[in-house]
Amino acid sequence: MIDLRSDTVTRPCEAMRAAMATAPVNDDVIDVDPTVDRLQRMIAERLGKEAAMFMPSGTMTNQVAVRLHCRPGDELLCEAGCHIYNYEQGGFAQLSGIVAQPVPGQNSVLKLGQLEGLIKPDNEHAVRTRLVCLENTHNRGGGRILPYEHVESICNWAHEHDLVTHLDGARLFNSVVASVISADEWASGFDTISICFSKGLGAPVGSALVGSKDMIHDMRRHRKLFGGGMRQSGIIAAGAVYALENNIDRLELDHHAAQTIAHAVSQCDNLSLEPEQVDTNIVIFRIHSDQVSASDFCERLYEQGVWMLPFSNVHVRACTHLNVSMDDCLHAGQILQQTAEQIRTESPITRGS
Ligand SMILES: *Cc1c(COP(=O)(O)O)cnc(C)c1O
Repeated sequence: MIDLRSDTVTRPCEAMRAAMATAPVNDDVIDVDPTVDRLQRMIAERLGKEAAMFMPSGTMTNQVAVRLHCRPGDELLCEAGCHIYNYEQGGFAQLSGIVAQPVPGQNSVLKLGQLEGLIKPDNEHAVRTRLVCLENTHNRGGGRILPYEHVESICNWAHEHDLVTHLDGARLFNSVVASVISADEWASGFDTISICFSKGLGAPVGSALVGSKDMIHDMRRHRKLFGGGMRQSGIIAAGAVYALENNIDRLELDHHAAQTIAHAVSQCDNLSLEPEQVDTNIVIFRIHSDQVSASDFCERLYEQGVWMLPFSNVHVRACTHLNVSMDDCLHAGQILQQTAEQIRTESPITRGS
């Protein structure tokens, strides 16, 4: 089975497992786990920040960040398709009493002009606008790399207006590898950054929230409240250390592999890339058919050994990662083209509907 559902399906390789098995550990709640400590220093340094904290998931790092920056009754501004707004059960509201104002970007990209004017006046009727959240790469945006100039202008504007900034950088290293911009440059405008080790980097578990030293006290409190205080967590942090040391540069292979899938999609009359541009390891495409839904299409692929994810009624997502080779992706592309051709001959093209 060629599993292209997500880059979270990656399994630790033998060397990563060996590093995990032999990692020095200690209780990281009552004390410090040396491997967690090492990971936290590594990722903070890479992002040019003072400190970082290891947590079980990217949802937790995002939600701890929101809680760290906001008080109940505060508001965050975000892009309408972002993970924090769409895929975390509105945790900011459920857990921290915070309101979100989602703003639809153009192809998932927010521009400063869309945010100017959204800061609420300081009066008793309004929530207090406090935080701007961006996502890079943008998952629903098809792995889009945010244009640096927009990130920079939004972060500068936010700070000029006493707002704080958080980056959901679950796949930030995909942006780093696919651009000439380093991780610390991407991070420079943000007060906090969330990084996932369990996506394309290939570690089995974990994310880090990166920020400044003075945030650590409250970050630790919120993490504990959300159930993320972990004991001998060095055993999983060791997988993340291995990932940082070995699996960043190879993300470029995933990007090349994604291009082969995008190319196959572009060869089919009844499929279209949405977005058209594929920047990194995510390919989203639309099926133009009256009869065949995205989940039908995925079922047909599955029967032929290719696993993709229905992303809406008419959209499918394919995501490349370290457990699928270029050959796998060429093969998946062929199956995709054959399957698209089958449904085209079964039903008339309804392009544009
Ligand atoms: C995967 C992901 C997260 C975090 O997901 P977890 O499954 O909680 O680790 C956050 N943001 C984005 C953009 C993601 O793709």
